[in-house]
Amino acid sequence: MNTITKQQKIKQITEHWRGQYFCNGTWKYCKGGAELIFNQLRQLGAKATEDKIAAIIGNYSWTQNNCDECGQDSEIVATFTEDAEQVTYICPDCLRKGLALCEMVKAQGE
Ligand SMILES: [Zn+2]
Repeated sequence: MNTITKQQKIKQITEHWRGQYFCNGTWKYCKGGAELIFNQLRQLGAKATEDKIAAIIGNYSWTQNNCDECGQDSEIVATFTEDAEQVTYICPDCLRKGLALCEMVKAQGE
């Protein structure tokens, strides 16, 4: 188990963007221009916020930290890795609900 915060995603946005769109020395196609967007993201630097990133990319998908249980965007999620391809993200509220459910079932002796 590990965690991912929205702030980590914001700090790593340029590395993630490059990883997704830069391959073998060239930029892949992306609406709006992958290299142009990369340069705009890089210019944000330490001033990067979720809203500024979304304004450049055109949506919030790169900074959303969605819970796989409730679907809500969360400042932090716990990550559960099943294998290299499958990671599950759970928000604190759902972790608490899961723990409460375990304790209730345990208390019932089932
Ligand atoms: Zn949740």
